Amino acid sequence: MNGCMMDFPLTITHLLDRALALFPDVEVVSRLADRSLHRQSYRDTYRRSAQLGAALKRLGATQGDRVATLCWNHRQHLECYLGVPAIGAVVHTLNLRLHPTELAYIANHAGDRFLIVDRSLLPLLEKFRAQLRSVEHFIVVPDAPGEAEAPFLDYEALLAAETVEMPSTPWSSHAVGFVRPEENAAAMICYTSGTTGNPKGVVFSHRSTVLHAFAGSTVDSIGVGSQDVLLPVVPMFHAAAWGLPYMAVLNGAKIVFPGPHLDAPSLLELMAAEKVTVAGGVPTIWNGILAKLDAEPGRWDLGSMRTMVIGGAAAPPAMIDAFRERHGLIVTHAWGMTETNPLGTIAHLSPKVKERGPEAIAAARASQGVPVPFVETRHVDDADKPLPWDGKTMGELHVRGPWVAKSYFGGEGKDRFTDDGWFRTGDIVTIDADGYVRITDRSKDVVKSGGEWISSVALENALMAHPAILEAAVFAGRHPKWDERPIAAIVFKPGKSASHDELNAHLEGSFPKFWLVDLYVEVEEVPRNSTGKFLKTKLRELYGDRLLGD
Ligand code: AMP
Repeated sequence: MNGCMMDFPLTITHLLDRALALFPDVEVVSRLADRSLHRQSYRDTYRRSAQLGAALKRLGATQGDRVATLCWNHRQHLECYLGVPAIGAVVHTLNLRLHPTELAYIANHAGDRFLIVDRSLLPLLEKFRAQLRSVEHFIVVPDAPGEAEAPFLDYEALLAAETVEMPSTPWSSHAVGFVRPEENAAAMICYTSGTTGNPKGVVFSHRSTVLHAFAGSTVDSIGVGSQDVLLPVVPMFHAAAWGLPYMAVLNGAKIVFPGPHLDAPSLLELMAAEKVTVAGGVPTIWNGILAKLDAEPGRWDLGSMRTMVIGGAAAPPAMIDAFRERHGLIVTHAWGMTETNPLGTIAHLSPKVKERGPEAIAAARASQGVPVPFVETRHVDDADKPLPWDGKTMGELHVRGPWVAKSYFGGEGKDRFTDDGWFRTGDIVTIDADGYVRITDRSKDVVKSGGEWISSVALENALMAHPAILEAAVFAGRHPKWDERPIAAIVFKPGKSASHDELNAHLEGSFPKFWLVDLYVEVEEVPRNSTGKFLKTKLRELYGDRLLGD
């Protein structure tokens, strides 16, 4: 027997309709390249998204066409997030931190027909434009002074040429040319950062995007609501800015976009002035913010902040504690991947954890957390056999759920998907009896010393709790006897230092002796990839042979 309920598609178009009907006056604030603030309402955003859709259609866009963006976080990028899927096309966010050759590969692989680019990023586009095989129209967002010359079209001029009559009754976006596609239709493509092999395309559907936005809105997750002011520091070209823009539109939360100004003082100023309640970004960003707050305590009034969502790489427990203890700021640690739209697990505190007291609370906050509703987790051994949830046994994390990829665009990377319907994350974790996941490593970053596994993340977290250390990245050095031994690349805080022996003495209490680091290399900064993760391949290349001797 079937249920008797409507078969109502979950679409991004509904989010637009809802915003216009219920929150038309809520603001979208964008910091421009010249640092000034631009303000528009959701009503304006709706109208401009419709104008964008109409302009793309006039240029020949049809359902399923890929529309690439090469943009910072700003209002026009939001209009692409909304207006492109709402005409049945697919927005494809290009990561402006990638190498031009990689960008060309990705745009060609996705078959992009349109490319929307910030004027400030034209020099980057010029480095790979000649290699693009499918792009027919280039549209320039005027974020910097200048004129759009052929073959470039001007984003604002295209929008201005479209007259859109705003619907007079709610829920009637068909009147402005929006469609409500079948819910499994593609809405967005994001490519993985491809640290091993070519980047692979993950195609989010309308349904996965909407359900993901719901999951992020639940109270035990990020809990986004209409009272919130969201600051997505995480770039909109990285895993849909963690879905934060869609969560904001779903709930009628004000959005604040930082534009290209991602330095700590600019972000702090924005958080204070716009009364931001939720900001999301990778640990590097927050490390910079913590250093600034420590240096100038009390300069910024962050009384409105409800939480800072940190993910994309492990948030060191020392940083989480420092924010709370020294500045009264709460970190929500979350784990996800491009392949999971991206939210998978989140470190909320269950009543059980709270009852157990401060140590259990700190441990839960520092973990990657429990799966959000509808994401299922397991960790397995080399033969894919599920392992016990005992908080000790390490294995590869597998996930499944309505916003977890079931394949990559073009059918590549089939080995990442199991025959029984799980996605192999490549992350090595433990899971405890309450379901809290703790990432101990990427499978390729575990240090395998004489057949025993050493967690590079655990060592990094401990080292980053040392008062002299700003950052630490632990990686495998090749070793004549043990195959691999841990090497740590460390960045000292200004004016501070510590010897090898002092640092190992600091680790000694928490780890078995064979985990202690064999070599410390002082570096000016830890190399990072395009999404802010430590680039351990580079570290291995530079220092990986240092333990081999002559
Ligand atoms: P990406 O697809 O670029 O978002 O990268 C996903 C990968 O980032 C995951 O597989 C993890 O290795 C890593 N990652 C994401 N969030 C966290 C976190 N909170 N702690 C540790 N690693 C993380």
